[in-house]
Amino acid sequence: MTDLSAKNEIETHALKWIAAQQQSMQQDLWSLVEINSGSYNVAGVNQVAETLAQWSEKLGCHAEFIEMPPQDVVDDSGQLNQQPLGRALRLYKRPQAPVQVFLCAHMDTVFPSDHPFQTITQLEDDIINGPGVADLKGGIVVMFKALEAFERSPLQDQLGWEILFNPDEEVGSPSSSKLFSEIAQRHHLGLIYEPSFADGNLAGARKGSGNFSVVTRGKAAHAGREHHLGHNAIRAMANFTCALDDLNGQQHGITINPGFVKGGGAVNIVPDTCTMRFNIRIESREQQLWCEQKIATILAQINTLDGISIELHGGFGRAPKILSSANQTLCKLVQSCGQTLGLNLEFLPTGGCCDGNNLAAAGLPNIDTLGVQGGKIHSSDEYMHLSSLTTRSQLSALILIRLAQSEDLAWLQRDGMVRPSC
Ligand SMILES: [Zn+2]
Repeated sequence: MTDLSAKNEIETHALKWIAAQQQSMQQDLWSLVEINSGSYNVAGVNQVAETLAQWSEKLGCHAEFIEMPPQDVVDDSGQLNQQPLGRALRLYKRPQAPVQVFLCAHMDTVFPSDHPFQTITQLEDDIINGPGVADLKGGIVVMFKALEAFERSPLQDQLGWEILFNPDEEVGSPSSSKLFSEIAQRHHLGLIYEPSFADGNLAGARKGSGNFSVVTRGKAAHAGREHHLGHNAIRAMANFTCALDDLNGQQHGITINPGFVKGGGAVNIVPDTCTMRFNIRIESREQQLWCEQKIATILAQINTLDGISIELHGGFGRAPKILSSANQTLCKLVQSCGQTLGLNLEFLPTGGCCDGNNLAAAGLPNIDTLGVQGGKIHSSDEYMHLSSLTTRSQLSALILIRLAQSEDLAWLQRDGMVRPSC
């Protein structure tokens, strides 16, 4: 047998095996979606982690749970609180193999346990609606099946892998993001299982993002008898919000969205506290610095108001994902795998963010939309194509197989890569 036909045989065998797994993947998906894992439902997120740890026994890998520090959250009344988070799960196998691949998927969803959207509904033969079916429990099933297929191939020794299942992506990965820079040092590339776009295409460059909370504090007073003694926190917040919103349009690619405000109470009292939250999207590090400097100037202006103080919490949690040349080469490899499956995959830029931003910031080339094909995520209309469980598992299996067979990995060589000594 020639080398080429042996390679083709390995691929064909893996693709066929996955094609026979559709039913088992659907069962796995249903069992994951039945567990509510809203980001702050710690018991639910931990239950997903336990389930995945059980599944991992099939892969014959090492497994460990990682405790996550709580998230600092400014509540609606301006108080800083600590919000507990679920545990992360780390799986790994063959850390000494020549090619090291990092895979990542989040276990949390945007639907809390008291949200009405909790179950799967079949909409059409190939389409289901359910919380997290696309974002990204379908992707978890895809990832496992692709790895199972790879582990059945004779190429195992060429490629080691590590998976992080994180519990807090939907709230911006406040705790797990710290793990990414460390993990990135041990790998050549990253594969993340966020859903593809609704048309099946994949995400390329991504904007960066920051989430912020601002609290203004003034002085309460009776609105009729002693209005002159009060210092109105809502008025101060209005000034801040207008000045902030006026930054929109000043630089192409930056968007700023004041998205939440709460303050005051009875209208016969001058309000002493107001809380506002906003999000910023940026395309470059320079734009981040520009925004930080403008915000600092506005804060300083508000702080000069008589009897008013203002404080800012939060920051830019996700740097822009700019496609490096290694990342572009990886995109081409994924496109060629797609072509083998009859998928014409394009990489499209997006304003949305995910852990692919964090990995790119840590220097790791990555593809971050290898999960199922679906859409309307973060809403009760979230849906996915069931058949994409098979096609996207096949896509990932091909990526792993071709990386393991690749004779020229020079494009993936990274400075300062750290090999674990175990
Ligand atoms: Zn997601």
